[in-house]
Amino acid sequence: MKIRTRLTLLFTLTTATILLIFAAIILISASKNREKEFYALLKKEAVTKANLFFNAKVDSKTLQDIYRNNRATLNEVEVAIYTGSFQLLYHDAVDIDVVKETKSMIDEIEQKNEIQFYQNNWQVIGMKYQFQGKEYVVTAAAYDGFGYIKLHNLLQTCIIVFIISILFLYIAGRFFSKKAFEPIVRMTDKAKTISATNLDLRLYTNESKDEISELATTFNKMLNRLENSFDSQKQFVSNISHELRTPLSAIITELELSTDKERNNEEYKAAILNTLQDAKKLAKLSNGLLDFAKANYDPSEIAFKQVRVDEILLDARQQVQKSNANYTITIHFEDIFEDDEQITINGNEYLLKVAFVNLFENGCKFSENKQSKVIVSLKKEKIVLQFVDNGIGILEEDLKHIFKPFYRGLNKIYAPGNGIGLSLTQKIIFLHKGNITVTSDKKSGTIFTVDLYHGVKNTLQ
Ligand code: ADP
Repeated sequence: MKIRTRLTLLFTLTTATILLIFAAIILISASKNREKEFYALLKKEAVTKANLFFNAKVDSKTLQDIYRNNRATLNEVEVAIYTGSFQLLYHDAVDIDVVKETKSMIDEIEQKNEIQFYQNNWQVIGMKYQFQGKEYVVTAAAYDGFGYIKLHNLLQTCIIVFIISILFLYIAGRFFSKKAFEPIVRMTDKAKTISATNLDLRLYTNESKDEISELATTFNKMLNRLENSFDSQKQFVSNISHELRTPLSAIITELELSTDKERNNEEYKAAILNTLQDAKKLAKLSNGLLDFAKANYDPSEIAFKQVRVDEILLDARQQVQKSNANYTITIHFEDIFEDDEQITINGNEYLLKVAFVNLFENGCKFSENKQSKVIVSLKKEKIVLQFVDNGIGILEEDLKHIFKPFYRGLNKIYAPGNGIGLSLTQKIIFLHKGNITVTSDKKSGTIFTVDLYHGVKNTLQ
């Protein structure tokens, strides 16, 4: 069942229950009032007739005539007067006699002074009456036809008002819930049209800051994020294919040239070396992409443990120098550490090594002297690593882009590369809740500063 229908039914049911309770209270109270008022009327009639009989000495015949005449048009009260010893003194109409007085009834009246009860829908009142020191018992009975008609009319009115109200409430409920859910229906229709090919579409938001507009705004923000990440994914893939295409085309051209005619050994060797170089580039790119994918894992899936930063730096240096014999890397400790904890952080050894290798390699490959140095400073809550080189530096306009995937600065002609090293390095440092900044100068070279914090534990999950 749709929320709209459910809400309308709930609303109608609740209001119907309230209306029913309201109508019941009115009817019960009207019925009680009718009964009370009619007993009071009976009492008045009983006293009046007793007064006429005893004080005004009106004879029984006249009183009975009045009763019979009135009875034709009115619900006349039937009165009877008895002595204390159950001797009938007067009766309005013995032949009609609806209320059959008994000795025990008279005794009860004597005992209680007054009694009230129903007999065949007739209301009866019995009371004591005193005249000239003597006690008598008077009973009065009548059917409150007029009162019952009034009650019946009231019940009818209540039923009609109830049915009309419920109908009106149901129609109003449907109308208002339709109005309230209109923006949601619009939103659903629009959302159905959004797909990967038109992620630029947005949901309609109005000026009023209501919940639905807030939902649409949140949804639009989510679409913005999706569109951005979709765009960067597309960009990433096109960058990868571009990076793959260049060395692959070079390999193909090289191999085609060397096979189009007979060549001497020297020429074949040169062709193989060139191909090998391009193949190495491809391997490096594929390794870089693999590491990139790893650094993009959910942090909870990456194994973190206590690792010594100095040991990872030494490993990274060894790795870089092994594949580049002409590179020189020095590690300088600004502070002497007294216990291992000062040089230890909670991290992933493999990824940290990848980051340090990138920074060392960049330092060396972008400097004429092919040298890179890391200065290690130990602070209370963090380890600061400054990767310094005296190289060609980075242009001011490149500085803000160099952490973007596949971005290469204008100085790229100086050294080969694929532009994913720094973005990968930044991802790894951020994964460790650390920080990386860069300062560069054309004359003095470049400094990458990495802050790695002690005590970063479960926050990584
Ligand atoms: P790659 O080194 O493969 O080009 P990176 O992502 O490692 O890619 O670096 C991006 C760009 O940042 C480089 O192309 C270069 O322009 C600049 N860069 C990075 N490190 C240095 C450095 N130490 N000295 C000068 N330029 C650098």
